[in-house]
Amino acid sequence: MDATTLPPSTLERETSDERAGPVDLLTSSAEREMQRSPGAERAGALLGPVKVVHAYWLAGMSCDGCTVSVTGATAPSVEDLLIGRLPGVPRVVLHHPVTSVESGDAFMRNYELAAEGKLNAPYVVIYEGSIANEALAAETGGYWCAMGSETVPKPIPTTTWLKRLAPGAAAVIAIGTCATWGGIPAAYGNPTGAMSVMDFLGKEYLSALGLPIINVPGCSPVGDNFTETVAAVLLFLNGLGPLPEFDELGRPAWLFNQTVHQRCVRAGFYEEGTFAERYGDPECLVEIGCWGPVVQCNITSRGAINHVGGCMNTGGICIGCTMPGFPDRFAPFYKRPPGTIVSSTTSRTVGSFVRPLRRITMQFQNREPRWDKERSVPSGWGNVPEPGPLKKGMHYFYEKLQHHNAAQPGRTTKEERYDDGYEVAGVRSGESAPPEQLA
Ligand code: SF4
Repeated sequence: MDATTLPPSTLERETSDERAGPVDLLTSSAEREMQRSPGAERAGALLGPVKVVHAYWLAGMSCDGCTVSVTGATAPSVEDLLIGRLPGVPRVVLHHPVTSVESGDAFMRNYELAAEGKLNAPYVVIYEGSIANEALAAETGGYWCAMGSETVPKPIPTTTWLKRLAPGAAAVIAIGTCATWGGIPAAYGNPTGAMSVMDFLGKEYLSALGLPIINVPGCSPVGDNFTETVAAVLLFLNGLGPLPEFDELGRPAWLFNQTVHQRCVRAGFYEEGTFAERYGDPECLVEIGCWGPVVQCNITSRGAINHVGGCMNTGGICIGCTMPGFPDRFAPFYKRPPGTIVSSTTSRTVGSFVRPLRRITMQFQNREPRWDKERSVPSGWGNVPEPGPLKKGMHYFYEKLQHHNAAQPGRTTKEERYDDGYEVAGVRSGESAPPEQLA
Protein backbone atom coordinates (compact mmCIF):
# COMPACT_ATOMS: atom_id res chain seq x y z
CA MET A 1 0.00 0.00 0.00
CA ASP A 2 1.28 3.45 -0.86
CA ALA A 3 2.15 5.42 2.27
CA THR A 4 0.34 8.46 0.94
CA THR A 5 -2.98 6.57 0.72
CA LEU A 6 -2.89 5.33 4.29
CA PRO A 7 -5.52 6.66 6.65
CA PRO A 8 -4.06 9.07 9.20
CA SER A 9 -2.58 7.49 12.29
CA THR A 10 -4.21 8.01 15.65
CA LEU A 11 -1.47 10.50 16.43
CA GLU A 12 -2.29 12.45 13.27
CA ARG A 13 -6.05 12.31 13.97
CA GLU A 14 -5.94 13.48 17.52
CA THR A 15 -6.16 17.17 18.23
CA SER A 16 -3.64 18.61 20.63
CA ASP A 17 -6.41 18.89 23.27
CA GLU A 18 -7.24 15.22 22.91
CA ARG A 19 -3.58 14.36 23.15
CA ALA A 20 -3.15 16.39 26.31
CA GLY A 21 -6.39 14.85 27.70
CA PRO A 22 -5.94 12.86 30.88
CA VAL A 23 -2.20 12.48 30.47
CA ASP A 24 -0.16 13.09 33.57
CA LEU A 25 2.74 15.10 32.24
CA LEU A 26 4.90 14.05 35.17
CA THR A 27 4.92 10.49 33.89
CA SER A 28 7.51 9.52 31.33
CA SER A 29 6.65 9.04 27.65
CA ALA A 30 7.56 5.35 28.00
CA GLU A 31 5.01 4.99 30.81
CA ARG A 32 2.38 6.83 28.79
CA GLU A 33 3.15 4.57 25.85
CA MET A 34 2.51 1.53 27.99
CA GLN A 35 -0.94 2.95 28.88
CA ARG A 36 -2.00 3.40 25.26
CA SER A 37 -4.69 0.98 24.12
CA PRO A 38 -3.07 -1.82 22.16
CA GLY A 39 -4.01 -2.00 18.50
CA ALA A 40 -4.58 1.74 18.25
CA GLU A 41 -2.16 1.96 15.32
CA ARG A 42 -3.38 2.60 11.79
CA ALA A 43 -3.79 -0.21 9.31
CA GLY A 44 -0.48 0.25 7.47
CA ALA A 45 1.59 0.09 10.60
CA LEU A 46 -0.12 -3.12 11.65
CA LEU A 47 1.97 -5.07 9.16
CA GLY A 48 4.34 -7.22 11.16
CA PRO A 49 4.26 -8.14 14.83
CA VAL A 50 6.07 -5.09 16.25
CA LYS A 51 3.99 -1.93 16.49
CA VAL A 52 6.20 0.31 18.56
CA VAL A 53 9.95 0.54 19.04
CA HIS A 54 11.64 2.84 21.53
CA ALA A 55 14.80 4.62 20.45
CA TYR A 56 17.19 5.67 23.22
CA TRP A 57 19.54 8.41 22.10
CA LEU A 58 22.73 8.80 24.12
CA ALA A 59 25.19 11.63 23.59
CA GLY A 60 28.84 11.32 24.48
CA MET A 61 31.46 13.82 23.38
CA SER A 62 29.35 15.33 20.65
CA CYS A 63 28.59 18.70 19.10
CA ASP A 64 24.96 17.63 18.45
CA GLY A 65 25.69 17.96 14.72
CA CYS A 66 24.40 14.44 14.10
CA THR A 67 21.11 15.35 15.74
CA VAL A 68 20.89 18.49 13.63
CA SER A 69 21.57 16.61 10.39
CA VAL A 70 19.01 13.90 11.21
CA THR A 71 16.32 16.52 11.73
CA GLY A 72 16.90 17.50 8.08
CA ALA A 73 16.37 13.96 6.74
CA THR A 74 13.62 13.57 4.17
CA ALA A 75 13.73 9.97 2.97
CA PRO A 76 12.37 9.00 5.42
CA SER A 77 12.03 11.97 7.71
CA VAL A 78 12.16 11.79 11.49
CA GLU A 79 8.47 12.70 11.49
CA ASP A 80 7.71 9.70 9.24
CA LEU A 81 9.32 7.43 11.82
CA LEU A 82 7.74 9.12 14.84
CA ILE A 83 4.15 8.94 13.57
CA GLY A 84 4.54 5.49 12.02
CA ARG A 85 3.87 6.70 8.50
CA LEU A 86 5.85 3.96 6.75
CA PRO A 87 3.93 0.72 6.19
CA GLY A 88 5.53 -2.16 8.04
CA VAL A 89 7.94 0.06 9.95
CA PRO A 90 7.05 0.20 13.65
CA ARG A 91 6.29 3.60 15.12
CA VAL A 92 9.35 5.00 16.87
CA VAL A 93 9.13 6.53 20.34
CA LEU A 94 12.23 8.70 20.59
CA HIS A 95 13.90 9.53 23.88
CA HIS A 96 16.44 12.24 23.13
CA PRO A 97 18.29 14.44 25.64
CA VAL A 98 17.95 17.52 23.41
CA THR A 99 14.68 17.14 21.54
CA SER A 100 12.45 15.40 24.11
CA VAL A 101 10.00 17.73 25.80
CA GLU A 102 10.36 15.88 29.11
CA SER A 103 13.13 16.69 31.49
CA GLY A 104 14.44 15.69 34.89
CA ASP A 105 13.08 12.55 36.54
CA ALA A 106 10.32 11.99 33.96
CA PHE A 107 12.89 11.92 31.16
CA MET A 108 15.32 9.66 33.01
CA ARG A 109 12.48 7.29 33.94
CA ASN A 110 12.38 6.27 30.24
CA TYR A 111 15.97 5.06 30.41
CA GLU A 112 15.47 3.35 33.76
CA LEU A 113 12.49 1.36 32.46
CA ALA A 114 14.59 0.00 29.60
CA ALA A 115 17.61 -0.71 31.80
CA GLU A 116 15.39 -2.56 34.29
CA GLY A 117 13.76 -4.63 31.52
CA LYS A 118 10.30 -3.14 32.24
CA LEU A 119 9.69 -1.46 28.92
CA ASN A 120 7.43 -4.14 27.47
CA ALA A 121 8.55 -3.20 23.94
CA PRO A 122 11.73 -3.60 21.90
CA TYR A 123 14.21 -0.76 21.80
CA VAL A 124 17.28 0.38 19.90
CA VAL A 125 20.16 2.43 21.27
CA ILE A 126 21.59 5.28 19.22
CA TYR A 127 24.90 6.72 20.34
CA GLU A 128 26.13 10.12 19.15
CA GLY A 129 29.60 11.46 19.96
CA SER A 130 32.69 9.61 21.00
CA ILE A 131 33.14 7.71 24.23
CA ALA A 132 35.51 9.24 26.75
CA ASN A 133 37.51 7.11 29.12
CA GLU A 134 35.60 7.89 32.31
CA ALA A 135 38.29 6.18 34.40
CA LEU A 136 40.61 9.08 33.53
CA ALA A 137 38.08 11.63 34.76
CA ALA A 138 37.27 9.59 37.86
CA GLU A 139 40.93 9.87 38.96
CA THR A 140 40.23 13.49 39.83
CA GLY A 141 36.66 12.91 40.97
CA GLY A 142 35.10 14.23 37.77
CA TYR A 143 33.33 12.90 34.72
CA TRP A 144 33.33 13.67 30.99
CA CYS A 145 29.75 13.08 29.79
CA ALA A 146 26.79 12.21 31.96
CA MET A 147 23.01 12.08 31.98
CA GLY A 148 20.87 11.79 35.12
CA SER A 149 22.16 11.06 38.58
CA GLU A 150 22.09 8.32 41.18
CA THR A 151 19.93 8.67 44.34
CA VAL A 152 22.80 10.37 46.08
CA PRO A 153 23.44 13.11 43.50
CA LYS A 154 26.20 11.73 41.37
CA PRO A 155 26.14 12.10 37.58
CA ILE A 156 25.73 8.86 35.63
CA PRO A 157 28.18 8.74 32.69
CA THR A 158 26.55 8.05 29.34
CA THR A 159 28.98 5.14 29.03
CA THR A 160 27.24 3.59 32.03
CA TRP A 161 23.90 4.01 30.30
CA LEU A 162 25.36 2.39 27.20
CA LYS A 163 26.59 -0.56 29.26
CA ARG A 164 23.18 -0.92 30.88
CA LEU A 165 21.13 -0.63 27.70
CA ALA A 166 23.28 -2.33 25.06
CA PRO A 167 22.71 -5.98 26.13
CA GLY A 168 18.92 -5.73 25.80
CA ALA A 169 18.84 -3.54 22.69
CA ALA A 170 17.51 -4.94 19.41
CA ALA A 171 20.34 -2.97 17.78
CA VAL A 172 23.00 -0.47 18.76
CA ILE A 173 23.53 2.19 16.11
CA ALA A 174 26.53 4.51 16.26
CA ILE A 175 25.78 7.74 14.43
CA GLY A 176 28.47 10.12 13.21
CA THR A 177 32.21 9.68 12.98
CA CYS A 178 32.82 10.37 16.68
CA ALA A 179 30.63 7.42 17.66
CA THR A 180 31.65 5.16 14.77
CA TRP A 181 35.43 5.67 14.83
CA GLY A 182 36.31 8.17 17.58
CA GLY A 183 36.40 11.18 15.27
CA ILE A 184 37.70 14.60 16.22
CA PRO A 185 37.59 14.04 20.04
CA ALA A 186 39.92 11.05 19.51
CA ALA A 187 42.49 13.02 17.49
CA TYR A 188 46.16 12.97 18.50
CA GLY A 189 46.81 14.77 21.76
CA ASN A 190 43.31 14.48 23.23
CA PRO A 191 43.25 14.10 27.01
CA THR A 192 40.04 12.07 27.22
CA GLY A 193 41.07 8.68 25.84
CA ALA A 194 38.20 9.09 23.37
CA MET A 195 37.13 6.01 21.45
CA SER A 196 34.30 4.67 19.31
CA VAL A 197 31.29 2.59 20.38
CA MET A 198 32.96 -0.42 18.73
CA ASP A 199 36.15 0.17 20.72
CA PHE A 200 34.12 0.50 23.91
CA LEU A 201 31.76 -2.48 23.58
CA GLY A 202 34.35 -4.70 21.92
CA LYS A 203 34.39 -7.33 19.20
CA GLU A 204 32.26 -9.80 21.15
CA TYR A 205 29.29 -7.47 21.52
CA LEU A 206 26.06 -8.62 19.88
CA SER A 207 22.66 -7.03 20.35
CA ALA A 208 19.66 -8.99 21.60
CA LEU A 209 18.89 -9.71 17.93
CA GLY A 210 22.44 -10.90 17.31
CA LEU A 211 23.66 -7.80 15.48
CA PRO A 212 27.11 -6.27 15.93
CA ILE A 213 27.24 -2.48 16.15
CA ILE A 214 25.83 -0.67 13.14
CA ASN A 215 27.94 2.30 12.04
CA VAL A 216 26.61 5.30 10.12
CA PRO A 217 29.65 7.58 9.87
CA GLY A 218 30.01 11.19 8.73
CA CYS A 219 30.91 14.48 10.38
CA SER A 220 28.10 15.25 10.34
CA PRO A 221 26.49 12.22 8.65
CA VAL A 222 23.95 12.57 5.87
CA GLY A 223 20.66 12.54 7.79
CA ASP A 224 18.97 10.31 5.20
CA ASN A 225 21.74 7.71 5.54
CA PHE A 226 20.77 7.37 9.18
CA THR A 227 16.96 7.36 8.87
CA GLU A 228 17.11 5.00 5.89
CA THR A 229 19.30 2.59 7.87
CA VAL A 230 16.97 2.77 10.88
CA ALA A 231 13.94 2.08 8.67
CA ALA A 232 15.71 -0.89 7.03
CA VAL A 233 16.67 -2.36 10.42
CA LEU A 234 13.13 -1.88 11.76
CA LEU A 235 11.66 -3.62 8.71
CA PHE A 236 14.02 -6.51 9.43
CA LEU A 237 12.99 -6.44 13.10
CA ASN A 238 9.37 -6.71 11.95
CA GLY A 239 10.12 -9.72 9.76
CA LEU A 240 9.20 -7.76 6.62
CA GLY A 241 12.63 -7.17 5.15
CA PRO A 242 15.95 -8.97 4.85
CA LEU A 243 18.80 -8.07 7.13
CA PRO A 244 20.29 -5.04 5.38
CA GLU A 245 23.76 -5.61 3.97
CA PHE A 246 26.57 -4.23 6.12
CA ASP A 247 30.26 -4.17 5.24
CA GLU A 248 33.09 -5.53 7.39
CA LEU A 249 33.07 -2.36 9.51
CA GLY A 250 29.31 -2.40 10.06
CA ARG A 251 28.55 0.37 7.56
CA PRO A 252 25.36 0.06 5.46
CA ALA A 253 27.05 -1.40 2.39
CA TRP A 254 24.63 0.07 -0.12
CA LEU A 255 25.46 3.57 1.13
CA PHE A 256 29.22 3.33 1.65
CA ASN A 257 30.57 0.86 -0.90
CA GLN A 258 31.57 3.51 -3.42
CA THR A 259 34.00 6.37 -3.18
CA VAL A 260 33.14 10.03 -3.22
CA HIS A 261 35.14 10.29 -6.43
CA GLN A 262 33.13 7.63 -8.27
CA ARG A 263 29.96 9.75 -7.99
CA CYS A 264 31.56 13.20 -8.01
CA VAL A 265 30.14 15.92 -10.23
CA ARG A 266 33.76 16.92 -10.99
CA ALA A 267 35.02 13.42 -11.90
CA GLY A 268 34.86 14.25 -15.62
CA PHE A 269 37.41 17.02 -15.07
CA TYR A 270 39.70 14.59 -13.27
CA GLU A 271 39.43 12.12 -16.11
CA GLU A 272 40.34 14.82 -18.65
CA GLY A 273 43.22 15.98 -16.47
CA THR A 274 42.01 19.49 -15.63
CA PHE A 275 42.34 20.61 -12.03
CA ALA A 276 41.28 23.54 -9.87
CA GLU A 277 44.09 25.80 -8.70
CA ARG A 278 42.04 27.66 -6.10
CA TYR A 279 38.70 27.38 -4.33
CA GLY A 280 35.88 28.53 -6.58
CA ASP A 281 37.31 26.95 -9.73
CA PRO A 282 34.88 24.50 -11.36
CA GLU A 283 37.39 21.69 -12.03
CA CYS A 284 38.48 18.69 -9.97
CA LEU A 285 39.72 19.69 -6.52
CA VAL A 286 42.29 16.95 -5.99
CA GLU A 287 45.33 19.20 -6.32
CA ILE A 288 44.06 21.55 -3.64
CA GLY A 289 43.52 18.74 -1.14
CA CYS A 290 40.54 16.52 -2.11
CA TRP A 291 40.75 12.94 -0.77
CA GLY A 292 37.60 11.82 -2.65
CA PRO A 293 39.27 9.03 -4.67
CA VAL A 294 39.92 6.99 -1.50
CA VAL A 295 37.00 7.98 0.72
CA GLN A 296 33.88 5.85 1.08
CA CYS A 297 30.88 8.19 1.19
CA ASN A 298 27.77 8.95 -0.88
CA ILE A 299 27.62 12.69 -0.27
CA THR A 300 28.21 13.51 -3.94
CA SER A 301 25.23 11.47 -5.13
CA ARG A 302 22.90 11.97 -2.17
CA GLY A 303 23.69 15.57 -1.30
CA ALA A 304 23.46 16.99 2.20
CA ILE A 305 19.73 17.51 2.59
CA ASN A 306 16.98 16.45 0.20
CA HIS A 307 19.55 15.83 -2.59
CA VAL A 308 20.84 19.39 -2.34
CA GLY A 309 24.33 20.50 -1.31
CA GLY A 310 27.20 18.23 -0.34
CA CYS A 311 30.94 18.94 -0.17
CA MET A 312 32.25 18.71 -3.75
CA ASN A 313 28.87 19.72 -5.20
CA THR A 314 29.28 23.09 -3.52
CA GLY A 315 33.02 23.57 -4.01
CA GLY A 316 34.55 21.97 -0.92
CA ILE A 317 37.26 19.33 -0.88
CA CYS A 318 36.72 15.90 0.66
CA ILE A 319 38.59 15.70 3.98
CA GLY A 320 37.66 12.07 4.64
CA CYS A 321 35.19 12.73 7.45
CA THR A 322 33.42 9.37 7.07
CA MET A 323 36.62 7.33 7.41
CA PRO A 324 38.06 5.62 10.50
CA GLY A 325 41.33 7.52 10.07
CA PHE A 326 39.67 10.95 10.25
CA PRO A 327 40.95 13.51 11.12
CA ASP A 328 44.63 12.67 11.67
CA ARG A 329 45.15 10.47 8.62
CA PHE A 330 43.77 13.18 6.33
CA ALA A 331 45.65 16.13 7.81
CA PRO A 332 46.78 18.69 6.86
CA PHE A 333 43.56 19.46 5.01
CA TYR A 334 45.05 22.22 2.84
CA LYS A 335 47.72 20.03 1.23
CA ARG A 336 47.27 17.79 -1.83
CA PRO A 337 47.29 14.06 -1.00
CA PRO A 338 50.66 12.50 -1.94
CA GLY A 339 48.97 9.91 -4.19
CA THR A 340 47.96 12.66 -6.60
CA ILE A 341 51.57 12.93 -7.78
CA VAL A 342 50.99 9.69 -9.66
CA SER A 343 47.26 9.79 -10.37
CA SER A 344 46.75 13.38 -11.46
CA THR A 345 49.97 13.36 -13.50
CA THR A 346 48.62 10.32 -15.34
CA SER A 347 45.24 11.99 -15.87
CA ARG A 348 46.94 15.13 -17.12
CA THR A 349 49.05 13.17 -19.61
CA VAL A 350 46.16 11.09 -20.94
CA GLY A 351 43.81 14.07 -20.81
CA SER A 352 46.12 16.28 -22.88
CA PHE A 353 45.71 13.76 -25.73
CA VAL A 354 42.04 12.82 -25.28
CA ARG A 355 40.70 16.30 -24.58
CA PRO A 356 41.47 17.86 -28.01
CA LEU A 357 40.03 14.83 -29.80
CA ARG A 358 36.82 15.13 -27.80
CA ARG A 359 36.56 18.83 -28.61
CA ILE A 360 36.77 18.05 -32.33
CA THR A 361 33.94 15.51 -32.00
CA MET A 362 31.99 17.95 -29.88
CA GLN A 363 32.34 20.59 -32.57
CA PHE A 364 30.80 18.25 -35.17
CA GLN A 365 28.01 17.01 -32.91
CA ASN A 366 27.20 20.65 -32.18
CA ARG A 367 25.99 21.16 -35.76
CA GLU A 368 22.73 20.39 -37.55
CA PRO A 369 23.37 18.17 -40.64
CA ARG A 370 21.64 20.90 -42.68
CA TRP A 371 24.36 23.40 -41.69
CA ASP A 372 27.03 21.07 -43.10
CA LYS A 373 25.25 21.00 -46.41
CA GLU A 374 24.72 24.76 -46.55
CA ARG A 375 28.22 25.44 -45.14
CA SER A 376 27.02 28.06 -42.72
CA VAL A 377 25.42 28.33 -39.30
CA PRO A 378 22.57 30.86 -39.23
CA SER A 379 23.18 31.93 -35.65
CA GLY A 380 22.64 35.56 -34.77
CA TRP A 381 24.69 35.13 -31.60
CA GLY A 382 28.12 34.90 -33.14
CA ASN A 383 30.26 33.48 -35.90
CA VAL A 384 30.55 29.68 -35.86
CA PRO A 385 33.67 28.76 -37.85
CA GLU A 386 33.56 26.00 -40.44
CA PRO A 387 35.73 22.96 -39.64
CA GLY A 388 38.90 22.84 -41.72
CA PRO A 389 39.86 19.99 -44.08
CA LEU A 390 41.90 18.16 -41.41
CA LYS A 391 39.02 18.10 -38.94
CA LYS A 392 36.59 17.14 -41.68
CA GLY A 393 38.84 14.27 -42.72
CA MET A 394 39.12 13.05 -39.14
CA HIS A 395 35.38 13.24 -38.73
CA TYR A 396 34.80 11.36 -41.99
CA PHE A 397 36.67 8.35 -40.61
CA TYR A 398 35.05 8.83 -37.20
CA GLU A 399 31.60 8.53 -38.79
CA LYS A 400 32.67 5.48 -40.79
CA LEU A 401 33.63 3.79 -37.52
CA GLN A 402 30.47 5.03 -35.81
CA HIS A 403 28.19 3.39 -38.38
CA HIS A 404 30.33 0.35 -39.06
CA ASN A 405 28.14 -2.76 -38.73
CA ALA A 406 25.22 -0.61 -37.57
CA ALA A 407 22.08 0.85 -39.10
CA GLN A 408 22.50 4.35 -40.41
CA PRO A 409 19.94 7.02 -39.66
CA GLY A 410 17.61 7.89 -42.54
CA ARG A 411 15.85 5.81 -45.22
CA THR A 412 17.87 3.62 -47.47
CA THR A 413 15.06 2.88 -49.92
CA LYS A 414 14.92 5.19 -52.87
CA GLU A 415 11.20 5.59 -52.60
CA GLU A 416 8.41 4.26 -50.43
CA ARG A 417 4.77 4.27 -51.52
CA TYR A 418 1.88 3.92 -49.10
CA ASP A 419 -1.60 2.52 -49.89
CA ASP A 420 -3.09 6.01 -49.90
CA GLY A 421 -0.64 7.14 -52.58
CA TYR A 422 1.73 9.08 -50.27
CA GLU A 423 5.32 8.81 -51.50
CA VAL A 424 8.51 9.16 -49.47
CA ALA A 425 11.83 9.66 -51.20
CA GLY A 426 14.95 7.93 -49.88
CA VAL A 427 16.80 10.33 -47.58
CA ARG A 428 20.20 9.66 -46.08
CA SER A 429 21.59 11.09 -42.90
CA GLY A 430 22.63 14.68 -43.46
CA GLU A 431 20.27 15.16 -46.42
CA SER A 432 16.94 16.96 -46.51
CA ALA A 433 13.66 15.59 -47.80
CA PRO A 434 12.48 17.08 -51.11
CA PRO A 435 10.84 20.50 -50.62
CA GLU A 436 7.38 19.25 -51.59
CA GLN A 437 7.50 16.80 -48.68
CA LEU A 438 8.57 19.47 -46.22
CA ALA A 439 5.56 21.61 -47.08
FE1 SF4 B 1 37.40 13.19 -7.21
FE2 SF4 B 1 37.62 15.14 -5.38
FE3 SF4 B 1 38.12 15.64 -7.95
FE4 SF4 B 1 35.61 15.13 -7.13
S1 SF4 B 1 36.84 16.91 -6.60
S2 SF4 B 1 36.63 14.37 -8.98
S3 SF4 B 1 36.01 13.61 -5.53
S4 SF4 B 1 39.26 14.22 -6.61
